[in-house]
Amino acid sequence: MKKILIPLFSVAVLVSCGTAHVANDGPDSSQALPKALTKSEKEFQAAYQNIKHEDLKKNLYVIASDEMEGRDTGSPGQKKAGEYMVKFYKDLGISYPKALGSYYQKVPTAYMKQRGGRNLPDSENILAFIEGTEKPEEIVVVSAHYDHVGTKNGVVYNGADDDGSGTVAVMEIAKAFQSAKKAGNGPKRSILFLHVTGEEHGLFGSEYYTDNPVFPLANTVVDLNIDMIGRDDPENRGKNYVYVIGSEMLSSELKVINEVANKKTNNLELNYRYDDPNDPERLYYRSDHYNFAKNNVPVAFFFDGIHEDYHQPTDDVEKIDYLLLQKRAQLVFATAWEIANRTERIVVDKK
Ligand SMILES: [Zn+2]
Repeated sequence: MKKILIPLFSVAVLVSCGTAHVANDGPDSSQALPKALTKSEKEFQAAYQNIKHEDLKKNLYVIASDEMEGRDTGSPGQKKAGEYMVKFYKDLGISYPKALGSYYQKVPTAYMKQRGGRNLPDSENILAFIEGTEKPEEIVVVSAHYDHVGTKNGVVYNGADDDGSGTVAVMEIAKAFQSAKKAGNGPKRSILFLHVTGEEHGLFGSEYYTDNPVFPLANTVVDLNIDMIGRDDPENRGKNYVYVIGSEMLSSELKVINEVANKKTNNLELNYRYDDPNDPERLYYRSDHYNFAKNNVPVAFFFDGIHEDYHQPTDDVEKIDYLLLQKRAQLVFATAWEIANRTERIVVDKK
C-alpha cells in the first residue's frame, strides 16, 4: 500500500539517477516524488494505523474471558463486559449520543418476551458516538452484538469470535476515528458505535434500536455490521478473505465503495458466496444488520464463515487470528471513513 510504496519509489528514483543523484539531494529533492499522499490520504493513513492487532487482542482477552460468563443477555457477566466497554470509551474521551443521556439504551424484559425471548432480564445496548463536523445529522452506524450464549452445565461459552471479535473491532474503529478527530480530522458525518444485546436470542437489541432509534432512521446512512471476523472457515483456511453480505441490496454504491476501500487497504479476497437472500444459510437475515435493512437503511455484513467452534464452548481467544482480525477491522474502518467523509450521502436506489 501507499505507506510502503513511497519508500520503494524513492529508492527507484535514487537508483535511476545513478551518479547524477547528488544533484537531487538539495532541499527540493522531495519534489521528485510525483505520487506523494494527498492531505486527506495522509489523514486516513494516520487514523488507520491506530487499528492494531495487539490492542484487539488485549481487549478480547477481557471481553471473552471466563469472568464474563459467556455474556448471556442480561446476565451479570454481560453487564461486566459492558462496563469494560464503557470505560474504554470514557478513557478515550468518546461520549454517548446526547439525546440518550448515557451510554446505555435499556432493552426491557417485556419487549424481548413479546418476541419469544424466554424470561430474559432487562439488558442494554451500548452506544458511543462521535459527532460529525459538517453533516452531524447524518449517521453512519458501525455495529456488533456483545451478547453470547452464556454458561451451560458449568461450561462457559466465551464467544471469542461470536461476537467478541466484532465487539473489539468496533471499539478499535472508534479509537481510530477519535484519534483522527483529535488531530483535527473528525468525520464529516456522525458515527454511532452500536453494541447491541440479545442477538443470540433473536436480534432483540438491534430490533429495539430500530424500533426506538436515537437518531431518525431516515438520517441513518448505513449500517456496517460485524459478526465474527476473527477466524477462518474450512473452505478458506489460511486465506486473507472475508465474506461480505447485503452490500448491494439497497444501494448501488455501497458494494463499490467497500471494494475500493479494500483495494486501498489490505486487499482481502471479498467472498460473496453467502450474498444472496435465498442462500440456504439465510445469513442476510441472521444478524443485526437485517433490522436496518428492513427499514431501508443500506447494510454490509462482515463475517468469517461457519467454523467448527461456532456456538461451541471452544470458541476461545487462543484460536483467534489477530492479524486477520486487524485486517478485517481496517476494511470496515476504511469503508466507514469513506461513507462518513464523501461529499454526497450514499444513495438508496434499490428495493
Ligand atoms: Zn453472532
